[in-house]
This record gives sequence, structure tokens and C-alpha cells, in this order.
Amino acid sequence: MRDEPGLEVRTTCPYCGVGCGVVASSNRQGVVAVRGDPEHPANFGRLCSKGSALAETLDLDGRLLYPEIRGERATWDAALDTVAKRFSSAIAEHGPDSVAFYVSGQLLTEDYYVANKLMKGFIGSANIDTNSRLCMASSVAGHRRAFGSDTVPGTYEDLELADLVVLTGSNLAWCHPVLYQRIAAAKAARPGMKVVLIDPRRTMTADIADLHLPIAPDGDVALFLGLLAHIHDQGLVDAAYVEAHTSGFETALAAARAVGLSELTAQTGLTATELDTFYRMWGAAEKVVTVYSQGVNQSASGTDKVNAIINCHIATGRIGRPGTGPFSVTGQPNAMGGREVGGLANMLAAHMDIENPEHRALVQRFWKSPVIADRPGLKAVDLFKAVSEGRIKALWIMATNPVDSLPDADAVEAALEACPFVVVSDIVAETDTIRHAHVKLPSLGWGEKDGTVTNSERRISRQRPFLPAPGEARADWWQMAEVGRRMGYEAAFNYTDAAAIFREYAAQTAFENDGSRDLDIGACAEINRESYDALSPFQWPLPVGEGDARSRARFFAEGGYYTADRRACFVSVSPPIKDTAAAGASFTLNTGRVRDHWHTMTRTGKSARLSAHIAEAFAEINPRDARQLGIDDASLVRVANDRGEIVVRALITPRQQPGNIFVPMHWTDQWASSARVDRLVAPVVDPVSGQPALKKTAVTLTKFETS
Ligand code: SF4
Repeated sequence: MRDEPGLEVRTTCPYCGVGCGVVASSNRQGVVAVRGDPEHPANFGRLCSKGSALAETLDLDGRLLYPEIRGERATWDAALDTVAKRFSSAIAEHGPDSVAFYVSGQLLTEDYYVANKLMKGFIGSANIDTNSRLCMASSVAGHRRAFGSDTVPGTYEDLELADLVVLTGSNLAWCHPVLYQRIAAAKAARPGMKVVLIDPRRTMTADIADLHLPIAPDGDVALFLGLLAHIHDQGLVDAAYVEAHTSGFETALAAARAVGLSELTAQTGLTATELDTFYRMWGAAEKVVTVYSQGVNQSASGTDKVNAIINCHIATGRIGRPGTGPFSVTGQPNAMGGREVGGLANMLAAHMDIENPEHRALVQRFWKSPVIADRPGLKAVDLFKAVSEGRIKALWIMATNPVDSLPDADAVEAALEACPFVVVSDIVAETDTIRHAHVKLPSLGWGEKDGTVTNSERRISRQRPFLPAPGEARADWWQMAEVGRRMGYEAAFNYTDAAAIFREYAAQTAFENDGSRDLDIGACAEINRESYDALSPFQWPLPVGEGDARSRARFFAEGGYYTADRRACFVSVSPPIKDTAAAGASFTLNTGRVRDHWHTMTRTGKSARLSAHIAEAFAEINPRDARQLGIDDASLVRVANDRGEIVVRALITPRQQPGNIFVPMHWTDQWASSARVDRLVAPVVDPVSGQPALKKTAVTLTKFETS
């Protein structure tokens, strides 16, 4: 675009899972400007602070521009030969499970597709997992348990059409701001619409809430079990829907009834009056959407929370109709696209199941691959544990920074230090992860990449390039295809461009699809480069002709689930056993995002405007706790446990509950030594989804005093 001033390019924001459309343009001096795409159905022209500042993050300072081997600049041929040789020799010597990929929701669907194909179909291992494991794995697992597939049943419009929007474990105002703006605008236009916020913190999202329930950490399962019992007691069950389209209601109801009022109040930390108010609001609203994100997903009981929510919706038939349904919002721009192509250790492409022999055979036949992984691979936390135990001999990390973002972060760093061969593909030359790489591969960034992403409402949009590739940076899919070819799989990885990969992926979604899979974009299987370039945002499944019944924004109003009996499953869940606090650890640490930064700030840290909102790491502390500990606002505090300590500034606010602390996850050793909060988080995961519990860590809090 720098050569074509005035040209406008429609693309998609690279930050959160809302997936807003962006129009990028440049002037004669080559200065890029961005604005919201008025025609994109996710945002209709809106952008949040991060999206509006995208043009401020595009300079080349700190970019990784050339391949490196052991810190020395190398040619692409030398770097790719080294990667292929080291992966091949590890596989020959120790078997396919001795190698692994750890990828990212920042990758485009085409990148994800090639990574998944190379690892599962040609290397023959399922050791490919993604930082999306930290984002929405519990939603995926909950969907699959209830619906038989990972299908988000609704669409963004439902959040505007609902009589009641319940936001649980979701600070939408800061983490998905454009969706928040859409709800706020709908509420302003329709005063009868209500919003309930369920969150231990009184976040900025509370500004539009009619009711805020300051729930105890991990009280969500009990809360929604109580709601299911209330639904039954008040005669709100949609008996016809339950009878025709579901199974397991009585067992789930019995589990809900087993939780008495005293356990309910103890688990949730809410009063009987607060519970009753919420339950009555839910029961009185004809159209309810329950929106949830990391406060639900990032928990040792995350999948059970998801199913406790879904149970209430299928009990009342509040699903698949306008303004109704459970609705998970993904943290990352392409967490959903990664799910679709099987970029998780326990999934195959096109929502097929790695543990289903028919699905495996189908995928292998489609790929014409020599092997196919026949069991789930290592999920993120276990993958790095395997690295630390020496079981992984070669690891390729793409577009993510696990040394800062995974729990037990110091152990992750030690594991990388000890790993015999680490490859990192990234856009930046310096992160806490890339410094441990034996081979560094320069990738394309936003504005340079070409491909597709899928947002939280199943909408596939194009990310289009409008800047030249800097230095020798190349697409992630190209890097993996080149390594695949060098490992001997020439024909399978002979892609010419992103459009060719998208065509193959689209064909796979329709390949021998007998209707048992929801994800079908097979109508794109013949798409040519020109049409790919012009592709408008669309939701799957994609109709193959006029009147195709699969063309719909919503699922399951009339049943038709993807389970064997085509019925939704009520999953019988119980509240988690309340853990006893570790000795001396009197505070519960919650981690999360702030409004104007993204992940470990490799891009948002470049914008002075974004950094002006919150300039450094902090710990949110309730005034009562601060008083008791003699902590002044903006003074330094030490947050510690047996894994380590961090030192950050105190932010004293009644928005925080006594006994709880919130510390953002953005600041790392790169930005501020000793603010890397994930070093404190235990590697505890949800037993079903493998998603780490990043929001409930026992810590001590003390005033920081220099000796
Ligand atoms: Fe980007 Fe999300 Fe903001 Fe939209 S809401 S502009 S996708 S960060």
C-alpha cells in the first residue's frame, strides 16, 4: 500500500475474538490510518481503543527480520534445513511423540491448517497444542459434551435482542469492547432490557449492569445448579423441548437439587436474597443470553461451569432462537479458526474427533497421508511438562510467548532452556521466549499476512495484506510447508498461496460429510484467487445453493444436535470441593487483561496512547485489606507464594473484594522485572479440557519494604 496512496484495504482486527472489520488506508507519505469497517457485521464501523491504535503499532522497531541460527543471521535455506533435519532425526531416534508444536490463536486459519496437517497426518503425532488452550478449551469441551460438537449456537445479534444478558466471568467492557458497546447501545434503545454481571470484581462492565453479583471465585457451578432447580420449581421448564430434543434432564436436576441453600450461599459467597433476585430475573425474561469467557473457562471446574450454564438454556428451550442461548466469547482473534481446523491436541480438522476411527480414516484419506495420529496429544501444560522431563526433543513455538503466559512460568522457562532444540517463529526479535530459541524464524505481522480468521460468532473474515513483507519475513504456513517438503512430503505441502490452503480446507469440511458435522464451507472448495481476495465475511455453515437449510445464523432451536441420538445432553455436574487455603496464603490471586493492552504487549506496548491508560503492572486490593496491611495507594507490594514473588504497585479500590487481588498478565520480565504474574500460578488444569486455572491462585500479600 505504501506505493499506492489512497488505496483502502478491508481487513480484520488482530486482537480479540470479536473480530472487527478494519479499513486500512495510507497517505502519500505512506502513513497508515485505520477505521472501523462500516460494512462488517461484527462491528458496523466501531473500533475499540486497541483497534483504533493499530496504525501506531506497525513500525519495524524490534522486528525480527532475518532467520537466525544460534543467534547468527542465516539464510532461509539453512534455517529450514536445520529445522527439518533436527525434527526428522528426533522422530527417527525417539519416535513421532518426541516432537511438538505449540501454536497460537494469532495464527491465521491457513497457518493452523498446515501445522495440524504436518503434525497429525505426516509426522504422526498429535503433539500440537495452542495458546487457545488457555482461552476457550473449556467451552469447546462443554459444547462437545452437551451438543456433540463444538458449535456456538448463536450470533452477536442475539446479545442485542435479548431481554436479559447475563455476563458471567466476562469483563466485556475491557476485553471485548465492541460487543460491550453493542449491548450498551441496545440497552439504551430498549429500556426494558436488563444486564446482570457475575464477577468477583466490580469491573467496568458493571456500568451497564442492573445487578452485579460479586460471586466467590469458582462459585459459578453452584450458581447455575441453583438456577436449574429454580427453573424447575417455578414451572419454567420447556417440557416439550426437553422431551423432544434432550436427554438426562432428571439426573442433572437431581444433582442440582443435591445442593442446598447453605452450600449454595457458601459456594457462591452470595446472599439468599441476591440469588433469588438473579433467579427471578432469569425466569421472568423470555429471551436470555448467557455470555461467558475467561472467568468461566480458566478454571479447574471450567467445563462443568459451561455445562451448568448450558443445562439452564436447554431446560427452557432458550437456545437457537433470536435473543437466546449460551454464548462463549473467545479471547483471541482466531481461537475459533484453530478449533475448526483441529489445531488442538485432542481434535481433528473440520470438527472431527481424533478418537473416532472413522473420522481418522476420513482425514487420512483426504490428506493421502502416510499416517494419522491415533490418540490425543499433549495439551499445553502437559506439553511443557514433557519438555521439562526431556521427553520432547524438538519443539516449534509459533506466535506466542509461553514463558510469560503459561502457569508456573519459571518452570516453562527452565524447560525451554533444557530442551535440545527449540524453534520460534515470531514477528519480534526479543521476548522472554524467543531468547531460548536455537532457530528464530521471522514471520509476517498484521497488515502483511494474508488469510482468514473466524470470530466468536462463527464468522470467517479475511485478513488482507496492505504492507510489504519487511526484511525476509515470511508467512507461518510457508515456513511449515517448506519444512514439510524438506522432511520428504513434497506433494502434500506444495502450496502456492493462502488461497490454495483455504480451498483444501474448505473441501475437507465437506469431504464425505453425511450431515453429522456442522462445519461445512464446502461451497468455497473451488474458490479462485480473485474470489478469495474479494471474500466477504460469512458465517458457517455456508449454503451451497438458494434455500439450503444449513444456511443459518443459529443452531438447535428445533434440536438437531450432533450427538449420536441427535439430542442435547444434560451433563450432571456438582460444585467443586472447596479447597483449603495453603498455609499462610490468605489471598486469592486473579489474573486478566486491562483495556488497552494485549497479551505480552509486543504490539500494544508500541503505542504511547495505549500505554497512557495504565502505565505499569498493579495489584488491585480492597481498601479494608490495604488498611489492615498498612498499604498505601500506589506503594509497592509483594505478592508471593512458594513458586516465587512479584513486586507491583497497589491499586486500592472497592471494586475488588476483600481477600482477593487482581494482577494483569501483560507485564513481563521484558517490560518490568519481577512483574511476571504467571510465575505464581500453579499448573492446575480442568480435568476435562486441560485449560489452566489462571484465576484462582493462593498467595500472600505484604507491603514491600527495602532492607
Ligand atoms: Fe479489535 Fe476486539 Fe477491539 Fe474489535 S473489540 S477493535 S476485535 S480489540
